Amino acid sequence: MEGLIMDYPLTTTTILEYGNSAFKHKKIISHLPNGSRHEYTFGDLHKRCKQLANVLTHKLGVTKGDMIGTFAWNHYQHVELYYGIPSVGAICHTINIRLSSHQTEFIINHSEDKVIFVDASLVPLLEKIAGQLETVEHYVIMNAPEKFSTTLLNVLHYEDLLEGESEEFEWPTLSENDACGMCYTSGTTGLPKGVLYTHRSTYLHALTISTPNAANYDNSDIVLLIVPQFHVMAWGYPYLCLITGSDMVLPSSNLQPEAIISILQEEKITKANGVPTIWMGVYEAMKKNPPRPKLALQEYLVGGSALTASLIKGMDDDFGIKGVQAWGMTETSPLGTVSRLQPHHEKLSTEEKIKIRAKQGIEFPGIEMRVVDNNGKVAERDGKTMGELQVKGAWVIKSYFKTNNRDNFTDDGWFRTGDVSTVDSDGYMHITDRTKDLIKSGGEWISSVALESALMSHPKVKEAAVIAIPDEKWAERPLAVIVLTDEDEVVLDANFKEFLSRDFANYQIPDNYVFVNQVPRTSVGKFDKKEIRRLYAQGEL
Ligand code: AMP
Repeated sequence: MEGLIMDYPLTTTTILEYGNSAFKHKKIISHLPNGSRHEYTFGDLHKRCKQLANVLTHKLGVTKGDMIGTFAWNHYQHVELYYGIPSVGAICHTINIRLSSHQTEFIINHSEDKVIFVDASLVPLLEKIAGQLETVEHYVIMNAPEKFSTTLLNVLHYEDLLEGESEEFEWPTLSENDACGMCYTSGTTGLPKGVLYTHRSTYLHALTISTPNAANYDNSDIVLLIVPQFHVMAWGYPYLCLITGSDMVLPSSNLQPEAIISILQEEKITKANGVPTIWMGVYEAMKKNPPRPKLALQEYLVGGSALTASLIKGMDDDFGIKGVQAWGMTETSPLGTVSRLQPHHEKLSTEEKIKIRAKQGIEFPGIEMRVVDNNGKVAERDGKTMGELQVKGAWVIKSYFKTNNRDNFTDDGWFRTGDVSTVDSDGYMHITDRTKDLIKSGGEWISSVALESALMSHPKVKEAAVIAIPDEKWAERPLAVIVLTDEDEVVLDANFKEFLSRDFANYQIPDNYVFVNQVPRTSVGKFDKKEIRRLYAQGEL
C-alpha cells in the first residue's frame, strides 16, 4: 500500500525558496578577487536568481538539460549560478580551475558546456584553449575590471546581463531526479570522469550534513566556505547554509593563511571548512602571530585528505579550536562519514580521544559502508582488518557521465571507493591506504599513471614509476623513480620539470627524482608500487 503523503520533489529550487522565506535577512558576504568586500542577503540572492533565470532562458537560450559551465572562485555570483542554473532545469557544471589546459579542454568538450561563466581573473586560462572548445556558444565574464580585454569570442558581461532584468520568473516543475550539478573527478588513466548529481541527492546531502552529528550549523553561525566551489559543489555548503540560516562568507581567491585569518577575524566566523593543507597553513601562521582578540572560530571541518592527530592537538591546545574530520569523494557528493566523539568516549584519555578524531568516522544516515577484504569477504569491524571501502546510499554515484565504468561498482550494487580502510567495533572507519594510482597534493589530484607515461616518452627515460611521498604542507607530493636509457648519463631534475610542464599543471610536476637501475616489479611484471613506497615513502631519498 502506498502512503498518503504529498509527492513533493526535493529540488535545489525549494532550498532557495526556503532560504528566502525563512531567513531573508541572513547574509552572504564575499571577499572578491580584487580585494573588495560585497554583502547582501538571502532575499537579494533570491531576486538575483530570478533575474538570472530570465537571462538564461531569454537571453542565452538555455533549455532543460543544457550543461552550463562555471570557472570561478567562491563568491555571491557563483552562488547565484549554483541555484539559478538548476532552477531552470539546466545543469551547473563547476570546472576545476587548477587542472592542466589539456584536462580542462577535455572536460568542457566532454560535458558539452553551452555557456561558461568565468571570472575575469581566470579568463587567460580559457583563452589558451578556446580554439579547441567545440560547444561553447558564450562566455559570460564576472568581476571584470574597468579596463578588460580578451581574445575570447562571444563575450557577455554578467552584471550587464542582469541589469534591469525582471525579478519575476515562474520556476518550471522539475523532477527531483533531474540532474542539477556536475563535477569531474580525476581518473587513474589521466582522463577525468563526470559525476552528475540529482536535485534529490543534493537536497538530501545538504539536509543531512547540516545536522548536529555532521557540520552542526544553526542560524547563529557565520560560516567561511573555503572549499572551492569548483570542488564537488563546495561540499554542499552553499545549499546547507540556506537550510540552516547560517550567514555565508566566501573568500574567492583570498586563500593565503594571512588572508584567511584576517577574514576569520573581520567576519567573526564561527565555523569553517577546508582541506588539511589550508588549516596547516593557518595553524602555522597563527602560532607565529597569535590572533588578538581570540577568534570566534569554534570548529573547522576538514576533508579531502587526512586530518592529522598533530594538527588536531595543536589547534586544540594552542587555540581551543576543534578540528572535525570528514571523509568523502566527488562520487559521494562528497560527504560520507564524519568523526565526532560520543558520550561513551568521555572516559577516555585525551590521546585516545584524538586517535578517534583522527579516524574518518561514522557514516551519515543515508549512507551505508562496508570493508571488503582480499578474499571478497566483508571484513570484521575489529579496527584491524583492512580491505577496500565500499559505500552505497542516497547521494552515491550509480554511473559516470557518458562513461561505462563497471569496474567501479560491485555486482551487488556497491561503489568501490579505491580507499583501503578498517572499521572498529564502534563503527569508526579509518583510511589506511589507497588502491587507486593517484596522489593527492593540497586537495588536488595528480595521476601517477599520466606522469609515468609522460616521463616514459622522454627520450632519456627507459622506465618511470611515480608514487606519493608524505609531505607536511601538501599532505602528499609525487616522487618519480627513473631508469635512464644510458646509465652514465646525467639528466637534471630541471630537464624533466620543463618537459612535463607542457602537459601538466605546476602543482602536478614532481619536485623529486630518484635515479635507479631497475624499478621493483610484482610477480606479474607490473611496477610494485607497494615496494617502491616501502623504499621511498618516508621521503628518504
Ligand atoms: P575527491 O574525489 O577529489 O574528493 O577525492 C576523494 C578521495 O580523497 C577519497 O577517495 C580519499 O582517497 C581522499 N580523502 C577524502 N577525505 C579524506 C580524509 N578525511 N582522509 C583521508 N583521505 C581522504
